[in-house]
Amino acid sequence: MEPIQMVDLKRQYHRIKQEVDKAVLDVLESSAFINGKPVQDFAEQLAAYNEVKHVIPCANGTDALQIAMMALGLQPGDEVITPSFTYIATTEVVALLGLKPVFVDVDAQHFCMCPKKLEAAITPRTKAIVPVHLYGHAAPMEQILQIAEKHNLFVIEDNAQGIGGQYLFNNGTVKKTGSMGHVGCTSFFPSKNLGCYGDGGAMMTNDDALAEKLRMVANHGQKVRYYHEMVGCNSRLDTLQAAILKIKLRELDEYINRRRAAADYYDNGFAGHDKITTPFRAGFSRHVFHQYTLKLEGVDRDALVAYLADKKIPSMIYYPVPAHRQNMFAHLGGTLFDLPTTDWLTERVVSLPIHTELDADQQDFIIEQVLAFVNS
Ligand SMILES: *Cc1c(COP(=O)(O)O)cnc(C)c1O
Repeated sequence: MEPIQMVDLKRQYHRIKQEVDKAVLDVLESSAFINGKPVQDFAEQLAAYNEVKHVIPCANGTDALQIAMMALGLQPGDEVITPSFTYIATTEVVALLGLKPVFVDVDAQHFCMCPKKLEAAITPRTKAIVPVHLYGHAAPMEQILQIAEKHNLFVIEDNAQGIGGQYLFNNGTVKKTGSMGHVGCTSFFPSKNLGCYGDGGAMMTNDDALAEKLRMVANHGQKVRYYHEMVGCNSRLDTLQAAILKIKLRELDEYINRRRAAADYYDNGFAGHDKITTPFRAGFSRHVFHQYTLKLEGVDRDALVAYLADKKIPSMIYYPVPAHRQNMFAHLGGTLFDLPTTDWLTERVVSLPIHTELDADQQDFIIEQVLAFVNS
């Protein structure tokens, strides 16, 4: 059996090695390292894939969120509603820009923002909502979009874990995650579902004027070179990364199918266990399984992680401390937010290895060892 990893990037690379190596050498030969042709090509191809008008590449997913908030004109003191049960980047950029993060609780089943809690958190100073498609499960966008429209709020989707996911509306319309809000943000960090071989990110939107603003903010606030109309930043996707992403984008649906198949396999292995809850799949979401995350009841979770590590099975807690309990937000009164589901989940979740290269014998071994510990 191959050694088990949380994500097996090497075996994934070897499947597309010839194409990737050639693409990288072509970029080296062209020496157009910044804004080379692959950057524009990839942006167009991702826009077609994700069914949006504009894709604006940038340096990473954190920048994408920050640039989105800058381009939407959010001002210090404006309130931005986000989950606390997420990767820190979602909330960190809010505080970085002098905006006020307002944390809302998540749904205990699908781990994403709870629409009821969202509506209760809105104040006259609320300007934007950042739903996160956590672990690859779509947030309940239909309700979130309705609430946003009613209160005239911007919606910025954090799609870093959800790319390729789909959302089914009540009227039967299906949309790609990242294409429903004013801006969708994603990350091409290597372990993400569409990962490059370094850092990368992108923003997407259907709004022409906003697309131009996003492009300007990412490029020192300039539309015409050396004429800077607003304070921006410098955030670009390297040509090398774009050349690699063009190849990996063609594989994305296949990657997602492999992740979904691995999730089904785990689901079968853990089916019906009274201490283990396998990931929920809401009818509105086509899950892309960036993570495969169990909820455990009556199990010493941290001892399980240690037990698995001893058997050379990696596992992870995403995330061991929710945002509102991070020291980073102590001065903003993070712990004053009452988020019982977030706290409850933080104690009980564990994520198992999931990626495009997982074999049945590896999964059999993981399932066997989890059950051995839980049943002991
Ligand atoms: C990875 C991630 C980000 C940030 O992406 P980077 O490219 O690492 O900056 C933001 N939000 C979520 C939910 C993520 O998982």
